[in-house]
Amino acid sequence: MVSVPYKYASVICDGAGHIFKNFHYPIYLALSLSLFSAIPVHPVGLILPNRFPIAVIDPSTHDSVFLPPILFCEIITVLQVIFNKASTFYLLKEYMFMVLLPFGDTQYELRPTKMICLGKNYVKHAEEMRSEVPKEPIIFLKPPSSLIGPEEKIVLPKMSKLVHHEVELAVIIGERGKNVKRKDAMNYVLGYTILLDITARDLQNIARKKGLPWTLCKGFDTFAPVGPRIVSSSELEPDDLEIGLKVNGEIRQKSRTSEMIFKIPQLIEYISSVMTLEPGDIIATGTPEGVGKIEQGDVIEAWIEGIGELRVYVE
Ligand code: MG
Repeated sequence: MVSVPYKYASVICDGAGHIFKNFHYPIYLALSLSLFSAIPVHPVGLILPNRFPIAVIDPSTHDSVFLPPILFCEIITVLQVIFNKASTFYLLKEYMFMVLLPFGDTQYELRPTKMICLGKNYVKHAEEMRSEVPKEPIIFLKPPSSLIGPEEKIVLPKMSKLVHHEVELAVIIGERGKNVKRKDAMNYVLGYTILLDITARDLQNIARKKGLPWTLCKGFDTFAPVGPRIVSSSELEPDDLEIGLKVNGEIRQKSRTSEMIFKIPQLIEYISSVMTLEPGDIIATGTPEGVGKIEQGDVIEAWIEGIGELRVYVE
């Protein structure tokens, strides 16, 4: 048994099985099994801190056990069958791989099928990486399982001794698009947020030397914090915004989105000529210069003018 802060054990499922969505980050889903009068058990809260691992809490004793996500899914599947509450439990499973972000007066369920990221899209970053400025966009993917929301924690992997921050303007796709023309591209944009393209730089350096892909160095769980909100494309002109990042209050990165080599319409045209863009997909447009190491205990605050400030922690 492991103790976790009791404040996480809030019940956000009502008697009819509706899940309340108006809670803040990270996503703590809780469910009282006492709702189901057929089972004589104490109320139990199921919570998803960073989605991994999942804690099951007994609010009467504050005791908790941690379950791996796969086991959690199996338990939920069994409960679905027993109680015929498929929709409720289906939602619980769905929330494991999704970040809720404020979007106007509502919340947007950010659930990308893919995150397409730009390598070396700012000249000075290409220079600090001792790389040539690319003539065509360089793209790579991050898995949706690397997403976390504001106020969550980046977990440093044991496999790496050098993890870097990269602050980026993220484009959220609003419409399915294939072979989108540059002149039409902005019609496919829902809005913008901040994405931190967290990178295991030592593993990337090895991959670059050996000509290996970047999946490993870019793809760890928690390596894609996003937020703090999505600003509609009708409310924000993305071409010349201040973009920056602080670690423990010290400014590490500060630039303007006007320094991007390949602009958003060109990126959408290029990427959609390769892969169909789906609603919720994220294009991370590359980082400016000033990338650097993050360590356990660091507080990272990233900002983009007109969007706000994204704060996350390093565990
Ligand atoms: Mg990047």
